[in-house]
Amino acid sequence: MKVTCLECQNEFDIEKGIGTGDTIECPFCGIELEYKGKDKSGKVKLEIIEEEK
Ligand SMILES: [Zn+2]
Repeated sequence: MKVTCLECQNEFDIEKGIGTGDTIECPFCGIELEYKGKDKSGKVKLEIIEEEK
């Protein structure tokens, strides 16, 4: 399952078994993204997880 990183716009594969709320790390820029499920068109929705400082 391909997703596009919200930060660096690179495409990468994620596991099919991923569930809503799971955390994905972009292999290109290392940012952490939360998997938010799919929209009606089947497009994967992601949200950037802000790092606490
Ligand atoms: Zn990225």
